[in-house]
Amino acid sequence: MNAPATSRWEGRIFLGDWVAARGSSLPVVEPATGATLGMLGIANGEDVDESVRIAAEAQPGWAATAFDRRAEILREVARLLKERAAELNDWNIRECGSIPPKAEWELQASYEQAHMAAAMPMQAIGQVFPSSMPGRSNYWQRIPIGVVGVIAPWNFPLLLGLRSVLPALALGNAVILKPDAQSAVCGGLLLAELFADAGLPQGVLHVLPGGGATGDALVKHPGVGMISFTGSTAVGRQIGETCGRMLKKVALELGGNNAMVILDDADLDSASSCAAWGAFLHQGQICMQAGRHLVQRKVAGRYIELLAERAARLVVGNPAAGPVHLGPLINDRQAEKVEAIVQRSVAMGAKAVVGGNRQGRFYPATVLSGVTPDMPAFTDEIFGPVAPVTVFDSDEEAIALVNSSPYGLAAAVHGASAARALALASRLKSGMVHVNDQTVNNEFQVPFGGMGASGNGGRFGGPASFEEFTQSQWISVMERGIQYPF
Ligand code: NAP
Ligand code: MG
Repeated sequence: MNAPATSRWEGRIFLGDWVAARGSSLPVVEPATGATLGMLGIANGEDVDESVRIAAEAQPGWAATAFDRRAEILREVARLLKERAAELNDWNIRECGSIPPKAEWELQASYEQAHMAAAMPMQAIGQVFPSSMPGRSNYWQRIPIGVVGVIAPWNFPLLLGLRSVLPALALGNAVILKPDAQSAVCGGLLLAELFADAGLPQGVLHVLPGGGATGDALVKHPGVGMISFTGSTAVGRQIGETCGRMLKKVALELGGNNAMVILDDADLDSASSCAAWGAFLHQGQICMQAGRHLVQRKVAGRYIELLAERAARLVVGNPAAGPVHLGPLINDRQAEKVEAIVQRSVAMGAKAVVGGNRQGRFYPATVLSGVTPDMPAFTDEIFGPVAPVTVFDSDEEAIALVNSSPYGLAAAVHGASAARALALASRLKSGMVHVNDQTVNNEFQVPFGGMGASGNGGRFGGPASFEEFTQSQWISVMERGIQYPF
């Protein structure tokens, strides 16, 4: 693969126009090789101020743009996503370490989301309520928030940025997207260009690559009416605190430590297939990753055997160089963190049935047996390709084990009896539960989100996006003025 073209955006940020970033610059590093693919401009606080000023000015005109024109632009965004798929996918592979099928899936999912967003502007924006006052009409309507700040992560940079950017724009907001610096090309700079080419009016979408300081400036800016953040629980808590103090709307989609429960009557062939996908897809760097495998004692041995066989078959390597199942982890720090969690758990008595040996940023699909609830492999979000297996005896014990985690994003239950699996599923403190499937599931027409330490109850997708990206207003209209007692 050739070195990708970088000239349009090198050192620049997008404020409706490409301008030189006033902050520092950072290399775009290919995690598989360590090669530098370009130089990013990092937005500083002054850039954020300028961006908010321009966005706030552009937003009312965008909100007043006829709904069919807004829809048309978003359909054009969808078309361009398909037309530019090769370039976007190349960057997803090289910048983020994605395998090509993951990049292609993410592109297709983003395309579908763009079409769904294009259908939003034509929906009803409110309701009419009766009044006890003669001659009065009560309208309750959704109105844009104004300027929405979107802070998106590096693991699915297109999808997780666009799931906020698209509906927020569809509903008449201006958007400032801060992609993670590790995924800023695929998850930001290419999108800035694409939305502009689709006809989005200048100033309505901004892209400010950056890290914590850029994000913090965006969150603390009084001109930003809402923050939609997808990332870690630790950072989500800080953002939540700031927004709480500022009385700012905030949607937080945070970490997970998602359990797959395998009951003694489960189809183990299917369960182990689901488990391998849920645990190892995108090197396990997914908030919904199957990070705890709770297996009923009678079938635990066989489940571990089947899962280990599947894990052992997975090829690890540079996804730009040839077909592999697992690419690199995003950076050294993440790879070292995964290694440390596995090593500490092994020191406490867990056994690496397969995998467990890091090679730089590459980490193989790993199955750990003998994992107990006090080990870091059980308690921590690993964000790597590790499947820790813990044995339980009763359904009650399984429920208690699942619910012992402060996180509550996704879970799965495998069993032959739908009634038993459902009864168990409905007692799990998890925002999403899948029976006889795995934890990494996202259907964009269904509201997506977590509980507990996995978020603040915000939801993305389907009807939930209307709620998230608007505020509501009661307007009452009297036919003519009336007289009060004084
Ligand atoms: P992170 O550490 O929370 O970072 C996310 C972004 O926020 C980064 O760009 C980070 O910059 C920035 N940031 C740091 N401090 C900030 C502050 N005080 N104010 C505003 N922004 C700040 O997340 P990560 O570790 O890169 O990503 C992995 C995490 O995301 C995992 O926990 C995963 O579960 C979660 N995730 C959740 C979902 C979901 O839908 N629930 C989806 C994907 C990922 P720096 O890089 O400079 O710190
Ligand atoms: Mg971080």
